[in-house]
Amino acid sequence: MPSTPQPETDNAAAQDKAATESPADKFARECRAGLIRAREILASILAVVEPRTAENTLAPYNEMLVAMEHSSATAGLIHSVHPDKSIRDAAETCEQEAAAFVNELRLNRELFDAFNALDTEGMDADTSRLVARALRDFRRAGVDKDEPTRRRIKDIDDELVVMGQQFSRNIVDDVRHIALKDASEMKGLPKDYIDSHKPNDKGDILITTNYPDYIPFMSYAESADLRRELYVASRGRGDRSNGEVLAKILKLRTEKVKLLGYANWADYATEDKMMKTGKNAASFIERVSRTAQKRARRDYTELLRYKKKHLDRTANRVDDHEKTFLENKVKAQSYSYDAQEVRPYFPYKQVEQGLLDITAEMYGVQYRPAAGAEIWHQDVRAFDVMRGEEKVGRIFLDMHPREGKYQHAAQFTLRSGVIGSQLPEGVLVCNFPNPRSEPPALMEHDDVVTMFHEFGHLMHHVLGGQQRWIEQSGVATEWDFVEAPSQMFEEWAWSHDTLRRFARHHETGAVIPEELVQRMRKADKFGIGLQTVQQMFYASVSLRFHTLDPAGLDMPHEVRRLQEKYTPFKFVEGTSFHTNFGHLNGYSALYYTYMWSLVIAKDLLTPFHKNGLMNPEWTSKYRDAILARGGTKDAADLVKDFLGREFSFKAFEDYLTRDSL
Ligand SMILES: [Zn+2]
Repeated sequence: MPSTPQPETDNAAAQDKAATESPADKFARECRAGLIRAREILASILAVVEPRTAENTLAPYNEMLVAMEHSSATAGLIHSVHPDKSIRDAAETCEQEAAAFVNELRLNRELFDAFNALDTEGMDADTSRLVARALRDFRRAGVDKDEPTRRRIKDIDDELVVMGQQFSRNIVDDVRHIALKDASEMKGLPKDYIDSHKPNDKGDILITTNYPDYIPFMSYAESADLRRELYVASRGRGDRSNGEVLAKILKLRTEKVKLLGYANWADYATEDKMMKTGKNAASFIERVSRTAQKRARRDYTELLRYKKKHLDRTANRVDDHEKTFLENKVKAQSYSYDAQEVRPYFPYKQVEQGLLDITAEMYGVQYRPAAGAEIWHQDVRAFDVMRGEEKVGRIFLDMHPREGKYQHAAQFTLRSGVIGSQLPEGVLVCNFPNPRSEPPALMEHDDVVTMFHEFGHLMHHVLGGQQRWIEQSGVATEWDFVEAPSQMFEEWAWSHDTLRRFARHHETGAVIPEELVQRMRKADKFGIGLQTVQQMFYASVSLRFHTLDPAGLDMPHEVRRLQEKYTPFKFVEGTSFHTNFGHLNGYSALYYTYMWSLVIAKDLLTPFHKNGLMNPEWTSKYRDAILARGGTKDAADLVKDFLGREFSFKAFEDYLTRDSL
């Protein structure tokens, strides 16, 4: 069984091998063993000659996926977190091999035939759902098409992988900069930023388009001209070659889905999501942007008013490159809120304990340190999730930065729970201050929100991990629903009612004042009108590019039109947003998903707002109706089971249009 590389001592042969084999080779061998086992099981499924049944086909299919996941999930995690680079590299290779195996499965005609031959009459709901979904995914891959068509689809898929990587690389590699002549041009920026930007040997201070340079500069630099220059540099990235690469990608995607019988890529990509069609996605974008327009106007007017009063009396407009800077100014002035003010209430250890206590109470579980668990670094902690004396899963918390580790925050699956076979195991990988090396490790409130968000995914994975079929385990819901439980759980990091349980001043022990939390929330809410219409601009680029006929698509024209349709900001000459909008690769037409999940998250909160975030009746109902069901039902039905009605836009619309929090 592939797992973290620890010397194996169970038999003499293994000891011999361990003596000559490098840890990376050992990892690769163990990881590959899972894939080999999966291939063996696949062969045994295909060899069945008796009539197809759940027992002779679906049970081994499930077992095959469990074996495959042992390799792919371990590799995915280890690739992102292991301190030893050679092991990370070995994990990456194994991860790619596992991905290739999964792709092959959906193109395996014999396996499709086996599923097709199953008699679903009399199967329970979960099982017939498993079969229906698998058949749909086989067809979406084109397995039922004739041989030349399948070959062409395979070629397109291969080419799309290469072109997608090219598109992303052209953005990452195209780092641009502006050159400042003097440190005074960094006026407004924090001292540590100025100190870390020294002139080079030509006397220039370079500010690059990379985020750690870009975001503070756009937020704080007082010079609007330099901000504009940096904005144009950043939004011009990829313009030398990505226009052409993107045109090719769109053409290939369109060709593929036409072969599969869809009108366009947007219809194909939304079909297996809650959204279902490209048309629904377009109406959604229209509806959200219509709802947000009024507030966006109001936000814009407030920015303009500040600009006229403090910066330029003759100003008659605000541009995109001024937005973040002015927003910060208005927040500081109108809400007298400074993010530094809340940090002392959030020492890492207290936040973590608070989060564990809150979720334990909400979901009726206890966290017991898992002494024997294998960990990959001394900072990682493992807990068994207990319900009384019954163990229901295991979580790992890898919460602090170190060299070579994944640099964002995410929940990783280590094992998906399958009844009678394995318990769910999940890992949080984050980069918060470390109480061991830098006590008291005060956190930004944004980080606290991120930690709750990711823990929302973790609870979904663990509590939804009691399923018969691995493909329905944990977060295996529609892609555009996955963020709803985690976005909803962010509220627990914003409410004074829950914050007061753990947010205490690290020196005085005083509980965070309610007044401070209110101010923090008000400041946070300023600008959501503009943020929302900006998001709808991005979502519409993503959707329209995948709806229109690529042959007639004038991309720069369309970007300009959509920016001016959805946002109050004018298109800036010299920019080329579509050539550096990296999500066009991974999300393709589906950039709307973030906002869609948010609409549902706001609706899921309605009973909690009425009855309290810790109301035991509703927390357990939420656990049982949504989280525990994993992917056994359509997300829309899960939400209906929980709310007792169809989900609606009302809560989201109230949030956008009203001033109350
Ligand atoms: Zn998330």
